Amino acid sequence: MEQNLLSDLEEKIKSQGKSLGFDLVRITTAEPFYRDESEALKRIRDGHMDGLSWYTEDRVRKMNRPGLLLDGARSIISVGVSYLEQNIESEKMLSGKVSRYARGTDYHSVLKLRLKKFRDVVSDILGENVNTRIFVDDGPMNDKGAARRSGLGWMGKNTNILTPTYGSWIFLGQLILDVALKPDKPLKKTCGNCTICIDDCPTGAIVAPYVVDNSLCISYLTIELKGSIPIHLRPLMGDWIFGCDICQDVCPVNKKAEMGKLPEFKQRPGFSTPNLVEILNLDQETFSKVYKDSPIKRAKLAGLKRNACVALGNNGDVAAVKPLSKVLFDSSAVFRGHAAWALGRLGGPESEKHLRKALADEGDPDIRGEIQSALDGLRDLA
Ligand code: SF4
Ligand code: SF4
Repeated sequence: MEQNLLSDLEEKIKSQGKSLGFDLVRITTAEPFYRDESEALKRIRDGHMDGLSWYTEDRVRKMNRPGLLLDGARSIISVGVSYLEQNIESEKMLSGKVSRYARGTDYHSVLKLRLKKFRDVVSDILGENVNTRIFVDDGPMNDKGAARRSGLGWMGKNTNILTPTYGSWIFLGQLILDVALKPDKPLKKTCGNCTICIDDCPTGAIVAPYVVDNSLCISYLTIELKGSIPIHLRPLMGDWIFGCDICQDVCPVNKKAEMGKLPEFKQRPGFSTPNLVEILNLDQETFSKVYKDSPIKRAKLAGLKRNACVALGNNGDVAAVKPLSKVLFDSSAVFRGHAAWALGRLGGPESEKHLRKALADEGDPDIRGEIQSALDGLRDLA
């Protein structure tokens, strides 16, 4: 009888969560994630998290011990929301690509708002004073560990959580509580023998099943990395200017994923395949206005412009030569260097003319080096 009452409670919580817009609602305990902790520490020591200065050993310990995040933590409610949308834009001349998750409103604010409402509903259902803490990819919390252990999904070899209904196109959120709830069981699914994502990653960033070397991943290079992108990786980045979906696009689990329902994640016009020349010409005021509540703001204007240069170089469309040539005289050294690289990759007499003029004017020795190697590359093509 007591067990039935308990299950009723959990079922009520889940059904209320779904009516608040969460596609998946599962429960796990607040036990530490010891195995995840030791694997994450190993990733740091192996250098696979290099470049993410905030991802420290201290943080790893905290994120894997929910009791350090909330006094008396007993349960974690793990939620998932699909952001999959029918593509509304086809690729155009001089366009780049933005990862699917960043084509609508910033998921942090959308999920947080709904999780706050959910917290109030859960407190009402439990009928007691409940202490809680909410996470949406914004603090030290092992979100994937909670999703896996609660049976919301399983860990894919590309390090994304895969769900049976929505594939890996989901945002995750967590509500930690100091009340014991009946936990769900993990799924028994795995990737099996599949290695498609590992084989198809253009930069070889999935260095082993379940291990992504951050410094090689296009997502890191286009969003987190500040400054110059390593030259040997630029040709492998294709036309991605914010994130990369390749290891998800090729995943067989995602082929039958259901579409998301939340209106906040509807693609905004111009966000999935933005015009790269318009990005080269963006000023700070327009950038801040256009991307105010979009995940894209994380790349900052300088990062987005730098990425647009790389994508224009890789697109191979000589219509980009003129707009890129103007960038050779921009005040940002990083921007000038990437424009030079792109012109070297596009080649042709016009590119050469602009690069020679820029070399004569350039005062920064690093950028002179970039321009010179772009010119050397042109000679190699001749
Ligand atoms: Fe590779 Fe792109 Fe996946 Fe990163 S996001 S692991 S670069 S396929
Ligand atoms: Fe797993 Fe294959 Fe999907 Fe990679 S592509 S995450 S190995 S199912």
